[in-house]
Amino acid sequence: MHRGARWPGRVPARVQARSVLPRVLEPLVDLVLPRVCAGCGHPGCLLCPRCAALLARPRLATPRRHPDGFPPTVAAAAYAGPVRPVVNAFKEHGRTELAAPLGAALALAVVVVRAGAGGGPVLLVPLPSSRAAVRERGRDHVAELTRAAVRELRRAGVPVTAARLLGRRGRVRDSAGLDARQRRANLAGTFVLREPVRRGSGLLVVVDDVVSSGASVTEAAAVLIPAARRHDTPVVAAVVAATPRGRPVAAVGPGPGVFTVRER
Ligand SMILES: [Zn+2]
Repeated sequence: MHRGARWPGRVPARVQARSVLPRVLEPLVDLVLPRVCAGCGHPGCLLCPRCAALLARPRLATPRRHPDGFPPTVAAAAYAGPVRPVVNAFKEHGRTELAAPLGAALALAVVVVRAGAGGGPVLLVPLPSSRAAVRERGRDHVAELTRAAVRELRRAGVPVTAARLLGRRGRVRDSAGLDARQRRANLAGTFVLREPVRRGSGLLVVVDDVVSSGASVTEAAAVLIPAARRHDTPVVAAVVAATPRGRPVAAVGPGPGVFTVRER
């Protein structure tokens, strides 16, 4: 989670207007204020081709201090450069129309992680945001991303479903300013299994917007793995962007072998 991430520079007027106006008025915003690329400010588009291309460079996420139990995780992009303002415009500044391109990026990450795990049907498990965060934003942005990714994957013929298997309990303090170990401790016991993992549900893919320390994904996997192991179901993760350390995945072939899914 990147609650502390800062918008680089001035928030465009269009974004400010969008975050305060009801959705019915959004077409008016487009008329009054020019549409600009959420990544670089290039006029006339939601996302320019150059910034869109940055969202299609899949890589294995490799947190700096690799947490024990961090599942194999593929990110569609590096969380750097124009990708940061794109994600933040969607997440924190109400540019909900970015759900489609960011959902497509998440779908790409799912395709890559699925190929690495040997293919087959997939079950997307969105990482639940805290109630306070949902209240503050007025929406559940990870749920929006998940729905967009499911649409994209179905269009591509990937057998996919999504289920809110994880819930949250208790209160978690803002993770901004905490190191990796403190983030993990802050999250310990936060996620709970809301419903059992069903036999034949397919590869469990935890999905989220951004991975940095890996604490949230690790904590989610720790809850899912014991439930999934019963059916021999691996647990992996896919995100839109990861703090850059891993190299882009050079070749993604069908079937196993891109990386090893370790059972714990
Ligand atoms: Zn751009």
